[in-house]
Amino acid sequence: MPKTRFQALAESQRREHKNIDESGKRSALFGKQVFNEERMLQFLTKEAFDNVKSAIFQGSKIDRKIADQVAEGMKAWALSMGATHYTHWFQPLTGATAEKHDAFFDVLPEGRAMEKFGGAQLVQQEPDASSFPSGGIRNTFEARGYTAWDPTSPAFIYKTTLCIPTIFVAYTGEALDNKAPLLRALHAVDQAATGVAQYFDKNVRKVYATLGWEQEYFLVDKALAQSRLDLTMTGRTLVGSFSAKGQQLDDHYFGVIPPRVLSFMSDLEKQCTQLGIPVKTRHNEVAPNQFELAPVFEEANLSVDHNLLLMDVMEEIASRHNFKVLFHEKPFAGINGSGKHNNWSLATDTGVNLLSPGTTPMKNLQFLTFFVNTIKAVDTYEELLRSSIASASNDHRLGANEAPPPILSIFIGKQLSDVLDELEGVSKGKLSPEEKTELKLNVVGKIPEILLDNTDRNRTSPFAFTGNKFEMRGVGARMNCAKPMTLLNTIVAKQLTDFKKEVDALIDKKNLKKDEAVFNILREYIKTSKRIRFEGDGYGMEWQEEARRRKLSFNKNTPEALQIITSKESVELFKEMDVFSEVELKARQDVELGAYIFHIQIEGRVLGEMVYNHIIPAAIRYQNLLLENVGGLKEVYGAAHKKVAESQLNLLEQVGEHIVEIKKLTDEMTDARKRANGLSTIDKKAQAYCNNVKPYFDTIRDQSDKLEKLVADDLWPFTKYRELLFTK
Ligand code: ADP
Ligand code: MG
Repeated sequence: MPKTRFQALAESQRREHKNIDESGKRSALFGKQVFNEERMLQFLTKEAFDNVKSAIFQGSKIDRKIADQVAEGMKAWALSMGATHYTHWFQPLTGATAEKHDAFFDVLPEGRAMEKFGGAQLVQQEPDASSFPSGGIRNTFEARGYTAWDPTSPAFIYKTTLCIPTIFVAYTGEALDNKAPLLRALHAVDQAATGVAQYFDKNVRKVYATLGWEQEYFLVDKALAQSRLDLTMTGRTLVGSFSAKGQQLDDHYFGVIPPRVLSFMSDLEKQCTQLGIPVKTRHNEVAPNQFELAPVFEEANLSVDHNLLLMDVMEEIASRHNFKVLFHEKPFAGINGSGKHNNWSLATDTGVNLLSPGTTPMKNLQFLTFFVNTIKAVDTYEELLRSSIASASNDHRLGANEAPPPILSIFIGKQLSDVLDELEGVSKGKLSPEEKTELKLNVVGKIPEILLDNTDRNRTSPFAFTGNKFEMRGVGARMNCAKPMTLLNTIVAKQLTDFKKEVDALIDKKNLKKDEAVFNILREYIKTSKRIRFEGDGYGMEWQEEARRRKLSFNKNTPEALQIITSKESVELFKEMDVFSEVELKARQDVELGAYIFHIQIEGRVLGEMVYNHIIPAAIRYQNLLLENVGGLKEVYGAAHKKVAESQLNLLEQVGEHIVEIKKLTDEMTDARKRANGLSTIDKKAQAYCNNVKPYFDTIRDQSDKLEKLVADDLWPFTKYRELLFTK
């Protein structure tokens, strides 16, 4: 079976990667645990193989007879690999993945046993899913949910289980997961982009969204992490005074990777390779004990699956190396948190990256078309795009001077800004021959050259063009990329659909040539989407003011950011693009708000426990130590003890004050929490948790951190930052 050009494109990128080339061994392992094309050719009939291929390429249905054949082949392969169980692997709205394992083994009526797995088991399952969030969909419709095979993401074996990627939907059709809407959005962008790409090349039959994520994470010694209530229960430290050495020295970034970490990384990379996850780069990140891992980009649905699988595999392998891996966006105060940049582009089945300029003016016009349309889409739907990266834990990171602010803007660099400025000056309607030549030679024609040295990169931008792709930087480290990817691809699909209508209208009604029509519409888009372009410092206060003047949304926290999901604009968009119904949008909003409340509630409870049962008792013990000392000194020195014990008396006073204060604040926080719980709507509850409960976390932490600095080290009840962050 010849490779598609798209696969060839991805593979050539993979080959560039030295790790694979050099060792030779690693490439031999690649995809060993995946039921990929090679395995399918071995284990499927020609008929079944062709059916699966056309399901992948055209989205065609696979009938029951073929499904039986595929299941038969998959089973034979899985058993040959030592698998004993199979599972429908899916992505419920919790953001994680879920699976329920069934044994291949089955007992027959006559008492014999055999390995059973047929088309029915492959295609559809009904998990006992009542405990997955549905935002009320299942109650409203009294509908049960089922998982259904997604043939576009290959089955794989993890440990001894055959995992079959699936969507999770209600019997009434509503999506209960993150994959189903992503597939719908990818279909929408395929249709819309293919229509536009055909202006430039009639041979294009399909357009794929591509995604390359960059996963940041922390590694902490497992035993030390487990000694902390907050890390275990919430994934982040709720208190902790900053250690004397932080990231001030900037000595961690790209530094030498410590041996235990390296050993973890090697095991991880080996496992990823076998699972077909094309991991490519690894390096230290800015903060101590922080690292990053990035793969070669892939088709977006597969890439999302691979990221989720990677996170599971990482937890498991980290544990074997006695590490705990932290995906929380802000595990430690005072040092950088973790994100997951989403690099995104569109590629045709003819092997062309639509966001990469080509060698001919036509190819460059194609580049400009997709480039400007993406800018326009983000401008129109900036607030919706912001909503897709909202979460309780990501709130700590967005706008915290280490990550892009919660205001969306696009950075394209000086040279491309100049190109857009020139295009804006193009005259309306028909172009004179001189104008056309000028455009082709001096504006469009120059793009490839400019991009070659388009090295200026603005790290503070939340949405940056980086040469041949856009990079969405606000995505949180623990998020499922399906959410931002569903949004981005939907808005680009909508934008390209509108663009095509407008261009066609100019060609039909105004009798313009195709490229003239394209120029005309692009010029308008460049004009009307200007406010989203920002080349300056995204971290600066001036930008916040400027963004307000530009009427860009500025939703600082999750409850605010989630409002837009059920707006008229959003309902119309998702309905038109066939990605979400209004019911699904409402359900998602409820699930997200519910998750937000849950997060803050748990943090509040854990913090309360830490204060009442650990911090105050430790402070009192230290007080007693001081008291005992002062008492002893008094016995020896009599009235003169006041001078000798001056420091101790002073410490006693300070500790006493902090105990009073931390107790008072924690009591108030607990009351605020109770009041929030009593509110009737999920919306009000989320806002109360955000505005009335959460602010206490910082003031309580401040008191605790002050106590930590005073109290004797051997009495302090928690493992300190110094120990957590500098243990190699
Ligand atoms: P950075 O400087 O941000 O670390 P890199 O050059 O290392 O950027 O690339 C980051 C990611 O971009 C990688 O995961 C890579 O696979 C991805 N990437 C490259 N080209 C594309 C593309 N056409 N579509 C999607 N992702 C891409
Ligand atoms: Mg990056």
